[in-house]
Amino acid sequence: MKTFTALLALFSAAGALAAGGATSQPRASLATVYSSCVNNKQAALTFDDGPYLWLNDISKFLVAAGGKGTFCFNGNNWACIYDTDSQNRVKYAYAHGHQLVSHTWSHPISIPVHNEMWRIEQALERIVGVSPAFMRPPYGNYNNLVLEVAKQRNQSVIMWDLDTGDSLGASVAQSEKVYSDAVAKNPRNILALNHETYSGTAETIVPYAIKLLQSKGYQLVTVAECLGGLAPYQWTAPPQTPDPSWTC
Ligand SMILES: [Zn+2]
Repeated sequence: MKTFTALLALFSAAGALAAGGATSQPRASLATVYSSCVNNKQAALTFDDGPYLWLNDISKFLVAAGGKGTFCFNGNNWACIYDTDSQNRVKYAYAHGHQLVSHTWSHPISIPVHNEMWRIEQALERIVGVSPAFMRPPYGNYNNLVLEVAKQRNQSVIMWDLDTGDSLGASVAQSEKVYSDAVAKNPRNILALNHETYSGTAETIVPYAIKLLQSKGYQLVTVAECLGGLAPYQWTAPPQTPDPSWTC
């Protein structure tokens, strides 16, 4: 029996070698990566790394301007998503029509795969009852493995074409200049990276960007909308009831 198994192993190894030499491996299916909007005269402002202290303020500025934004949430980064305040912020963002996106559970420096992805998805399914159709990899780092895993999870990947630099140490004035320089070039659309975890972004840069973009005729929409009206979620369901397993 042992010999038979060893022989089988030998044959399959030889087969694998032969196949590897003669034919190329079937390509794994990869998630679509979006770095820019599609629709004309639309701007999608995205806010990473929350839910955090200034989410509601950002939402208020957007809603007052008749606009929507996109929040790319972590499960356990600047705060635990299951804290009461965090849960309320997630609910607030969803209730005000903003798009909720997965930004992985813990914002790892390493390449995120399933374990980093399902935990934040589970949190959004529990708290507001949505399964996100989009994910943004931390630091914008991805490779084919991330794209394979995202595809298996039925998600597309969102990057950006404008980085305000707020998480890289840019001053408020520098981030405002990023917006004004971009708008001066009269782009068809804008997909901007911001972080909701800085008060300067929330209180100063966001109102500045909203006013500037609207003065040039850009509509402030979610990423899913600016991509031609894609579905933001794979499915929606009623929120679930918290229990002791909701922890970070
Ligand atoms: Zn991030």
